[in-house]
Amino acid sequence: MQHNWSIPDGASRILARLNQYGYEAYLVGGCVRDLVMGRKPHDWDICTNAKPEQVVDIFKDKHVIETGLKHGTVSVVYDGVYEVTTYRIDGEYEDGRHPKKVEFVSDLREDLARRDFTINAMALGHDGNIIDFFGGVSDANKRIVRCVGRPADRFGEDWLRIMRAMRFASVLGFDMDAETLSYIQSVNYIPNGISAERIQAELRKMVVGINAAEILRQCKNILFLVAPELRDMDGFHQNSPYHIYDVFEHTLHAIDYAPRNETVRLALLFHDAGKPYSYSEDENGVGHFYGHPALSEPICRDVMSRLRFENRIIEDVAHLVKYHDITFNCERTYIKRCLNKHGRDMLHMLIFVRASDIYAQSTVNQSERLAKVRLFSEMLQYVYDSNECFSLRDLAVNGNDLIQIGFKPGPNLGKMLSMLLENVIDGKLKNEKETLLEFALPYLTVSQFLM
Ligand code: ATP
Ligand code: MG
Repeated sequence: MQHNWSIPDGASRILARLNQYGYEAYLVGGCVRDLVMGRKPHDWDICTNAKPEQVVDIFKDKHVIETGLKHGTVSVVYDGVYEVTTYRIDGEYEDGRHPKKVEFVSDLREDLARRDFTINAMALGHDGNIIDFFGGVSDANKRIVRCVGRPADRFGEDWLRIMRAMRFASVLGFDMDAETLSYIQSVNYIPNGISAERIQAELRKMVVGINAAEILRQCKNILFLVAPELRDMDGFHQNSPYHIYDVFEHTLHAIDYAPRNETVRLALLFHDAGKPYSYSEDENGVGHFYGHPALSEPICRDVMSRLRFENRIIEDVAHLVKYHDITFNCERTYIKRCLNKHGRDMLHMLIFVRASDIYAQSTVNQSERLAKVRLFSEMLQYVYDSNECFSLRDLAVNGNDLIQIGFKPGPNLGKMLSMLLENVIDGKLKNEKETLLEFALPYLTVSQFLM
């Protein structure tokens, strides 16, 4: 298959130079898959039958970083950084973890055969020919994630390949090959020693994929192994006119409607996790989930901490989960209070969470509820653009101004500032220094007395 592939100069020169020295060299893995699919590769990996020391020697006029000599990888800096890896097969696997050591081989086919999926097991030579022993081109065209070899063997060697399969299917919008899927669906444990960080990395890429909801549906057993706290959502009926799906299906639909933003989608994954533990029925047999966000929030924190997410994203996601059920009101004062409480970026995400949540419910009052969210979003923009004061930062006085007129640093100073801000947001006080100080002055004695 000849084609005019668009390959960066550096990569092309590295291939050519290795060939000149009598070695085989190919682009391999993700970049070949992306080229075949007409996507733009984000990194370019090269494989060769030259040994690492030979690669170092051949590129001694270039900057060479001995990234992973043990694994056969050196990085060559040639108008960009390229990883050049010697053909290898993986040594013994222990309990589905990464191989302890690798073995260099001389045959490209062997190197390609150890790769996870057919779409990731193609190579592209300097002549523009694709080497495709396992049907990667055809699977890319058919949009299928298929194991190289038998799924049981390949997933048995490395459990994380399961999460990788789900991630590729989600991100590329592919289906799983039937045999690959049926093996994944039969998996019922995670072996010891699988890195939480690597599960996390796959999960967060997976959740923003175009096919995230469908893959999580098909492979829910894997999701529930990673986050057993979510299992009770599955099949939990809501018995409510506002819902047409069980809690888990509703969650998946909400993810599907959401923009492909990691924080928003993770929040939707967890938003109703507390529902199964807050269910009650009224006298008409209608289901209610009073206070469920407060139960979902700790579940979200537990799962995300266990998967070693950074604190910053845990806080953001947990905040969205906690407030996902918010009823938006379109009054200016309310909006300014919201801006003060959540911050603008968080409010934007909350709007997406809220709208996706409503989209995934029944049609009862749905358009009215969505219209309200839309109106809130427009009003928010309007209030924001009008540069009105909604946070301490915008207030015409600060702590120092209050200290100047006699307040003492401490908690009462903060309380005074908050009181001023509330009055300004409510429109009871103008946001002017003189007016605010005049208002604060009578509190001076009280505040000193209290300290
Ligand atoms: P992307 O970088 O877009 O996430 P990629 O396919 O480049 O996708 P990498 O994790 O960078 O994925 O791995 C590069 C290549 O190494 C893969 O294309 C695949 O051929 C091989 N590979 C990576 N991880 C595994 C694994 N766990 N088992 C088998 N082969 C793997
Ligand atoms: Mg890659």
